[in-house]
Amino acid sequence: MTLTKKDFDWTNIAFLIISPMIGLVGTGIYVYFNGIHWLEITLFVIMYFFTGLSITAGYHRLFSHRSYDAHWTLRLFYLVFGAAALENTMLRWASDHRIHHKYVDTDRDPYNINRGGFYAHMGWIFYKHTEDPDAANMSDFKNDALVKWQEKYYIPIAVAAGWVLPGLIGLTVGRPWGCVLWGGFFRVVFVHHMTFFINSWAHMFGKQTYSDQDTSRDSWWLAFLTYGEGYHNFHHKFQADYRNGVRWYQWDPSKWLIAAAHFFGLATRLNRTPSRTILLARTSMDIKRTQKEVESVRPDFWARVQVQLETRKKRLEAAHQRVAEAKAAYVALKDSKMDQSKKLIAHYNRRIKVYERRFERERARWKGILKDAVLQARSFRSASNPAA
Ligand SMILES: [Zn+2]
Ligand SMILES: [Zn+2]
Repeated sequence: MTLTKKDFDWTNIAFLIISPMIGLVGTGIYVYFNGIHWLEITLFVIMYFFTGLSITAGYHRLFSHRSYDAHWTLRLFYLVFGAAALENTMLRWASDHRIHHKYVDTDRDPYNINRGGFYAHMGWIFYKHTEDPDAANMSDFKNDALVKWQEKYYIPIAVAAGWVLPGLIGLTVGRPWGCVLWGGFFRVVFVHHMTFFINSWAHMFGKQTYSDQDTSRDSWWLAFLTYGEGYHNFHHKFQADYRNGVRWYQWDPSKWLIAAAHFFGLATRLNRTPSRTILLARTSMDIKRTQKEVESVRPDFWARVQVQLETRKKRLEAAHQRVAEAKAAYVALKDSKMDQSKKLIAHYNRRIKVYERRFERERARWKGILKDAVLQARSFRSASNPAA
């Protein structure tokens, strides 16, 4: 598929050029003459999170992937502030995104990274859509009343939530235009590019932790910029999972928002990939990565490392299995009518802790072997090639 100038979408091009000019230059001029008010900064931050998270936790994880169910009030919030992010209607956005996953890295991928970083970032928006113009792959949401409402009134909703609302709030301190600039124009530039990074940089920089079947990558620093979506390799491998940063400490505000909504009864059926499946994907990739580094340098050494890794992998899986069983036994105890004295519960808890520690020790050994093998391969390489 070759795109030509004839396929340019001039409305989108004009918008993507004019909006940053108003957002950056306009806000700059306003600040030069009027200074900064605390409400303007506050509105910028709140609107940045409201609209960005409506894209990541809403358009993306709820509507595109159905990784959980949401109460209608939460869906309404996502549709209103998602519109204010000015990244198209939910149906159009999610349709493109489902195509991205289905045909990732090919010509049919709307933001195919093989067309270059700029194309995947925003260049693709410069062209008219050719793939699935009716969003037929979104039939599961097409008759949803809220979705139909957003589809019909997308622009008025976007303007009302993203520009009029900050302006009205700004009236309370006599700075409506400052608040429109900070909460509307300046904010939308950031939300655009931070979410666009998921299609560009998250397919360029970082680690292939769980799979090398496509170009998606994991990186903590990108997660920091993209509301948690920088763990994109995990996401492509396990797209039905409501989390992208799967470890509790991994920066993923979208995951935390969904978990908080669950706590308040606004989100249900949160889909989690079984931890064993995640572990298997991760260890397989660890082995592949090590093989790439080691095998070409010294095949005989790799043969030894491979045997060692296979043995350790089994032990790691067994240790993981024991943790899972201990946790299942604890849940069964809690659900049963058996004696649930403090002493017994403490005993079950201790057992989980012991198995978790053993698992962590196995994981540390696993990492140790991987690291030693790579270091050893590098020393072989420099010994055989002293000039390098
Ligand atoms: Zn992707
Ligand atoms: Zn996705």
